[in-house]
Amino acid sequence: MQNTFPVTLVEATLLTPRVRHLKLKRLDGTPLEFTPGQFVSFHFAAQGEGEKEVRRSYSLASIPGKSNEIELALGYVKGGIASEALFAAEPGDTFNMSGPYGRLILRDEAPKRYILVATNTGVTPYRSMLPALAERLHHLKVVILLGVQKKEDALYSADFLAYAKQYPNLDFRLCYSRETEKDTLQAFEYLGYVQAQFDLLDPTPDNDIVYLCGNPNMIDAAYELLKERGFSAQQVRREKYVS
Ligand SMILES: Cc1cc2nc3c(=O)[nH]c(=O)nc-3n(C[C@H](O)[C@H](O)[C@H](O)COP(=O)(O)OP(=O)(O)OC[C@H]3O[C@@H](n4cnc5c(N)ncnc54)[C@H](O)[C@@H]3O)c2cc1C
Repeated sequence: MQNTFPVTLVEATLLTPRVRHLKLKRLDGTPLEFTPGQFVSFHFAAQGEGEKEVRRSYSLASIPGKSNEIELALGYVKGGIASEALFAAEPGDTFNMSGPYGRLILRDEAPKRYILVATNTGVTPYRSMLPALAERLHHLKVVILLGVQKKEDALYSADFLAYAKQYPNLDFRLCYSRETEKDTLQAFEYLGYVQAQFDLLDPTPDNDIVYLCGNPNMIDAAYELLKERGFSAQQVRREKYVS
């Protein structure tokens, strides 16, 4: 196992009925240096002879400067190798990890607006980016669109709402694909898929840079809509959560 380092689970809590928030630390006590938006990989030993090591990736949820812990949000996939191992894990358990990796990071660029779109745990990188986004909010706008099935599935919404309250240029919208009750929605809540928000936000290649993270179907559907609006691949950053 090259370039891996041992980590231990410090704390695990349920963020939603199907998402577990993990706090881990490196066994040698050193912090993990990373750029918000990056991910780490767990390496699970091969289960039998002739089998390969299993590797699974998770975006870093950690907010830089807040703590040295490696925070992750893990969605449960029934029977999944990593899901079963990490949902059963208890404080003190150790794992092999590598990273950080990934290029879904904020760059030196100056759109008039960022539109950061996610489904479920795909919103994790945007949580990590919050302080870096806040630094840019005096000269540009940021829209964060989180799509989940039901209200109970919304993860980290308190963090996004707290920033939205403090920074009027940050617009956080929560979209439910399987709720139907319109009357009880708050101002930041919407019915329908995240990509349906494009009709309201009217993104244009001159104004916007769009990030898409999470479910591959959402990413493909959203990217098609953006291409119809004239976006090129460089203006749409994508990270698909595939095994
Ligand atoms: C760059 C990157 C970052 C990622 N970040 C995160 C993250 O922050 N949080 C997170 O929860 N996941 C994330 N993922 C997905 C994660 O790496 C695993 O793919 C996921 O946890 C499933 O792994 P598993 O071993 O539990 O299931 P597997 O053993 O891989 O799969 C078991 C079965 O379930 C199916 N399956 C796999 N995933 C899903 C799914 N999502 N829904 C339904 N069926 C599925 C498989 O096809 C297979 O049949 C990320 C993936 C990538 C590539």
